[in-house]
Amino acid sequence: MICYAGIDLGGTKSEAQLFDASWRLVDRQRLATPDTYEALVDVVSGQVKWSLQRAGKAIPVGVGAPGMIDTRGHAFTANLPAMGKPLPADIKASAGHQVAYINDCRALALSEAVFGVGQGHSTVMSLIIGTGVGGGVAYDGHLRSGPSSCGGEFGHIAAAVASVQENGLSLYRCGCGRIGCVETYLAGPGLVRMARDLTGKVMTTQEIGAKKNQSGPARDAWSVWLDITANLLISLIHSVDPDVIALGGGLSKISGVADDLKNHVSKKQLPGFGLPDIVLAAGGDASGARGAALAAAQETGYV
Ligand SMILES: [Zn+2]
Repeated sequence: MICYAGIDLGGTKSEAQLFDASWRLVDRQRLATPDTYEALVDVVSGQVKWSLQRAGKAIPVGVGAPGMIDTRGHAFTANLPAMGKPLPADIKASAGHQVAYINDCRALALSEAVFGVGQGHSTVMSLIIGTGVGGGVAYDGHLRSGPSSCGGEFGHIAAAVASVQENGLSLYRCGCGRIGCVETYLAGPGLVRMARDLTGKVMTTQEIGAKKNQSGPARDAWSVWLDITANLLISLIHSVDPDVIALGGGLSKISGVADDLKNHVSKKQLPGFGLPDIVLAAGGDASGARGAALAAAQETGYV
């Protein structure tokens, strides 16, 4: 029996996933993300309708998507053709059904908190490093929202001055309009650019990951990446003090990244104080959709 639906809406594909009462994945539908706003609303609202049809009844439906929704209900996102548009309201109107619309990194934090590496812990943080950088925090199995809607926008925290100065880094303008955000160094495109500027070598993130333990330009670039990421993690730990940090995104697939980060973070922590566990997210590709579905179920009082 289908009880919950989550839609993982990304820049290239939109995948609806259906879950039974035990949160097992029972069906999925993957469609390409269109490049116009009207078509985007059609695709996502169509997947909401497909989910309801497959369930044969009204069920909670959540959408996890990149970017944020501002105080007017308008999307702020570089990865979807929806900038400035009332995407959540238009999906609901077109589907004729209530939809919970949350940031995909927050969805991963919630999914990991309840179903993944955060089980048994109170405060669970996600840090997703891929084409961008984002995250979220779940408290006792729930996300909290505040007046700014920006909680979890870790990619737009300024890079530590010590990291920038000591490594002789340039300042880059971020997609958000500000200068010096950690995303401009840590995200995949940022790492590639930083590696080129530091070493004169053009390397992909995979090449850097594969050669990070051999002396040479890849290791040099990786050690600066670790320094900036560890400083970000220390700032987050000193702000939030989570029990566990779940890493996700394309760069989390680099072999040994969690251990490398643990090692660097422990060197930066104040002597005599503890640290959260830093581990890879467990949910894989299902995390975003399952987290969005759970947020919808929580909003509507199903769980
Ligand atoms: Zn930024």
